[in-house]
This record gives sequence, structure tokens and C-alpha cells, in this order.
Amino acid sequence: MSLFQKSKFIILISFLSFINTDITAQNGINASTFYKHDEYLSSDKMEGRFPGTKENNKAASYIKKHFRRYGLKKFNKNYYQSFKLFVKPDINKVKSDTVTTQNVVGYFEGSDDSLKKEFIVIGAHYDHWGWGGKGSSSKKKDTVAIHNGADDNASGVAALLSILEELLNAKTKPKRSIIFIAFSGEEEGLLGSKYFVNHLPVDKNAVKVMLNMDMVGRLNSDKQIYMGGAGTFSDGVALMKRLGEDSGLNPIIHAGEVGGSDHVSFYKSNISSIGFHTGGHPQYHTPEDDIDLINSEGGALVCKYIYNALIEIANYKQALNFIKQD
Ligand SMILES: [Zn+2]
Repeated sequence: MSLFQKSKFIILISFLSFINTDITAQNGINASTFYKHDEYLSSDKMEGRFPGTKENNKAASYIKKHFRRYGLKKFNKNYYQSFKLFVKPDINKVKSDTVTTQNVVGYFEGSDDSLKKEFIVIGAHYDHWGWGGKGSSSKKKDTVAIHNGADDNASGVAALLSILEELLNAKTKPKRSIIFIAFSGEEEGLLGSKYFVNHLPVDKNAVKVMLNMDMVGRLNSDKQIYMGGAGTFSDGVALMKRLGEDSGLNPIIHAGEVGGSDHVSFYKSNISSIGFHTGGHPQYHTPEDDIDLINSEGGALVCKYIYNALIEIANYKQALNFIKQD
């Protein structure tokens, strides 16, 4: 190789490694990925993602697009699990009070021949209150305004997609299989998760642990990530404590206190489940739950913590059995 060729070669190599680091920097879990997904789902054009509206369908299609892009497998012909629910149309633009909506579901096959028959579920709901009305906690009840739900729960979906992208880039693949699911109808009473648990695409005994994220975008200055249900599988509390070390977070871990969001549907069906959130706030269920209040750096820390939990559980050496909590 001549000196001239050699310098061209070096330039080419440095150019390629520049592209490569650039891709790595943008992929997976980081504040900008988290922000990008949250911003899209909580924008005014999504009109609060009320079940039965075309904006709810648009949100589902955004999630589906990423599931496909990141290579998740389908259980059925497509990623949708459709179901009907009863809503109070109120001020939302739905044609009747019985509407059709959908969960978005896909899975990542485990790497271990025997353990891949077991499934860990990670999920977040993507629906919200649309234009408000009876679902609003706003002090001004007659306010007709888009409830963007940037924290509730565009943040959970942003975490779900960030975690999925991180998994895609992982060098070693987890042993157990992982189901990714975005639920609809949560605000009407956990309807999407109830439907999923009653229409599981795999044997119920094969579903070992469910991790749920609902409102994870408002990490406070004390860096507290709250969770209920850590004691619903063996050594779960110890695991979540250990993962908190050097995480930049102060995990508040409850063995029980499962109540609250879609993971409850799994818990009631005797499936181990942990629900994660970063705490309540005055903008809860009001039109002010907006992207400008989202802590995307905090969201990335939360994603990393939950990602590590997901991988540890998917590779768990012990058998995963349900432990009932009070
Ligand atoms: Zn809510």
C-alpha cells in the first residue's frame, strides 16, 4: 500500500468509525430517544389517544412500526390484539359507546433452548383521556382541552421502546423469551391488560414475571423510582435493591403494594408482577401533563434500571414462582 493509499485508507477507517460511534450514540437508552418517543405520543396531533379514536390508532401504529423495525416476532398475523370496550364518549370523537381498540404485542425469542419456553412480559399503556370530560381531574371540569398525557403514559411507552432498542443492541441475548406489550383501555379500568391476561398467546404457566411502567417521566430531585410487587417472585426485593446501587436512583421498593396499573391484571391472575412509577403530581389527569415537564435524563436512568432488571429476570438462575403478597 502506498503512502497515498494508506492515508486514504486511514481516512476511510476513521470515517467509518465516526459513523459507527454516531449510530451507537443515538441508539438504545438515552435521554434523547426517551424524549423523542414521549414528544411524539404526547403531541397535540395525538389528541390524548382516547380509545376508539383515529389518534389512538395512530399511536398504536407508531408503536407497531417500532416493534417491526426492532425485529419483534408476532404471535398472530400482525402485532395487534383487538378488543372492544365500553367508553363514555362525552366530548371525545367516537361514534358510539362501544369502540374497538387494540393492544400492541410482540416478542423476542430467548436464547436458551429450554428456558425460551418461559416468558417475561414488559408493558406500558398508551391510551389516555383524549379531550378530557369525565376522565379529567382538572379543577375546571368543563375545560375541553387535549389531555396530552406526557407522563401518563407516553413516558411508559417511551421507556418500553427505549428498552426494546437497547435489547436489540445487546451482545448477549437473554435466555428466556420477552413479550413487549403496549396496552389500550387502561384508563377505563385496566381493560387492555385484563383482555390480554384472559387471551394469552402462550400457556399461562409459561408467563413468569410482568414488569409494568406507568408514569415514569417525572423523576424528582431525590431520584426516587417507586415500585410495588418486588416480593412477588423469589429474591425480587434483594434483586431490585442490588440493581439500585450505582444506578443514580433511589429505588423505593415494596414487596407488596401491588395496586395501581396494568400489572394488577397479571397479579390477580397469580403472575408475579412489579409496577414502576416516578410518583404523582398536580398535573395528573389534567391538560397540563405536558412534555415540557418531562425529565428525559431521569427517564433514561429509569429505563436503564428497568432494563437491567428485565435482563436479570430473563436470565434468572432460580425458578420463577409466584409469591402472593398482602
Ligand atoms: Zn392515568
